[in-house]
Amino acid sequence: MADYDLAIIGGGLNGVSIARDAVGRGLRVILLEQGDLGGGASSASPRLIHGDFAGLERRHILRVRSALAERDVWLRIAPHLVRPMRFAIPAHSEERPDWQLRSWLLLYDRLGSRSGLPASATVDVTHHPLGNALKRPFGTAFECSDCVVDDSRLVVLTAVDAAARGAVIRTGARCTRAERGKEWRLVTIDRGFRQVVTARAVANVTGAWTPSVAETVLRVTPPKVAAVQMSQIVVSRLFDCDNIYVFQNSDGRLIFASPYERDFTLIGTASHAFKGDPAIVAMAADDVAYLCDAANRYFRERIETVDVVRTLSGANVVPSLAGRRHQRDGAMLLDHGRGKAPLLTVCGGDVTTARLRAERAVSELTPFYPMSPRWTANAPLPGGDFAWNRFDDEVEEVRERWRFLGEDQAKRLVAAYGTKVKEILGDARERSDLGPAFGSELTGAEVRYLMQKEWARFPDDILWRRSKLGMTMQPADREALAAFMAASS
Ligand SMILES: Cc1cc2nc3c(=O)[nH]c(=O)nc-3n(C[C@H](O)[C@H](O)[C@H](O)COP(=O)(O)OP(=O)(O)OC[C@H]3O[C@@H](n4cnc5c(N)ncnc54)[C@H](O)[C@@H]3O)c2cc1C
Repeated sequence: MADYDLAIIGGGLNGVSIARDAVGRGLRVILLEQGDLGGGASSASPRLIHGDFAGLERRHILRVRSALAERDVWLRIAPHLVRPMRFAIPAHSEERPDWQLRSWLLLYDRLGSRSGLPASATVDVTHHPLGNALKRPFGTAFECSDCVVDDSRLVVLTAVDAAARGAVIRTGARCTRAERGKEWRLVTIDRGFRQVVTARAVANVTGAWTPSVAETVLRVTPPKVAAVQMSQIVVSRLFDCDNIYVFQNSDGRLIFASPYERDFTLIGTASHAFKGDPAIVAMAADDVAYLCDAANRYFRERIETVDVVRTLSGANVVPSLAGRRHQRDGAMLLDHGRGKAPLLTVCGGDVTTARLRAERAVSELTPFYPMSPRWTANAPLPGGDFAWNRFDDEVEEVRERWRFLGEDQAKRLVAAYGTKVKEILGDARERSDLGPAFGSELTGAEVRYLMQKEWARFPDDILWRRSKLGMTMQPADREALAAFMAASS
């Protein structure tokens, strides 16, 4: 008998979502990730959980409705990682007329939401905090509700849940070869050691690596996809209000500017065709200038390329079927036949619809296994067992119990761990009970937790994916963290 029912290659959001869905439906699952979970495109997304009102312009009504329903699911199952925000589109005299934006948002409200988010509204920004950061001519903005997500933590907590339900998650495990017969025999280089596992089916969920893994590892015909790079920039905070601005750019695209880690603003996205090694995706200077120009059209405070403190870039693939691309949905292919173990390929698609995509992908395998019904829409991710509108109460409770925590620190911990925060803070009565400090926020207790429960191995795993504390950590703290992790592993 094969070691596993399903071996998943790739630990991005698509891979871990399939692992979670499949293990909860009774399959024996292993997931192989060559680096860190979320180390590919999944930690460079625009961090939006949304229906995508721009889809209305393209008349993708059903797609928008389905994504809005998924937004409600995420709010229900991940209220710590997914936060509601007001998105504001300033009216621009040279862009879409006001009536069009207003009617989009009315329809958007209609297509959503049973989750109690506020309805869309027209705002006079001359008398509203939204106007403070904008150039003078902008008098009106159209507001609607959507959400933001901590994308890389979504990947990690989905994997934590999959593991808690019995999936084997191996990071630092590169799949190098696969022999296909009635079952699959996979060769991996697992932290330097050669390992072999067998599985009844394989899922190739390797994002931008999908065609090369198909060709060189699985040795099948690669799917017809096009590689695309998307990039965003981070600058010092440009505005004080807790909104996301959505700017109509002169090329018709919508550019967003979102609060990022308290002291910064994230602006995105620039995208274009990608060629090269998906492990090295650098943002082009033209793309940086493009996003600066788009922001400068609206914000009072001008930004130049030298103001960019970090860039986020990822590559993934989009289906290129008869020239049409449905970026949101991604692509799904099932290849099987007499004497040929099934191969499922899932690639592309956005963060909002990842859970649904995984549910559909695993359902494709029902002819091969007895499986229990779909379940992920109602099961909270670890730490997400509270209502989204009780987030502030959770923070208050944490501050009541661990009085030495500042408000910002308590908020960060609840946003990252939800109710699991107690597993990190335990019986601590003062800050020093949590071990050494690395910068103003990170403690030895949190680092140990991340190493033991969330597969963190290196400082970057913690500073850029389990958190974004890398934005503010000083080099000396970083070195101390590296030494602490080396001594703790
Ligand atoms: C142009 C573009 C625009 C996008 N826009 C949006 C958007 O507006 N909103 C949104 O929500 N999302 C957007 N996304 C989607 C999002 O960023 C990701 O695509 C999504 O998170 C799913 O990623 P993934 O799991 O397929 O791939 P990845 O996160 O890249 O994961 C693939 C993983 O496979 C691993 N791997 C590769 N080869 C091997 C091997 N041999 N063995 C083991 N592991 C291997 C890699 O290390 C990697 O971690 C966009 C994507 C693109 C390309």
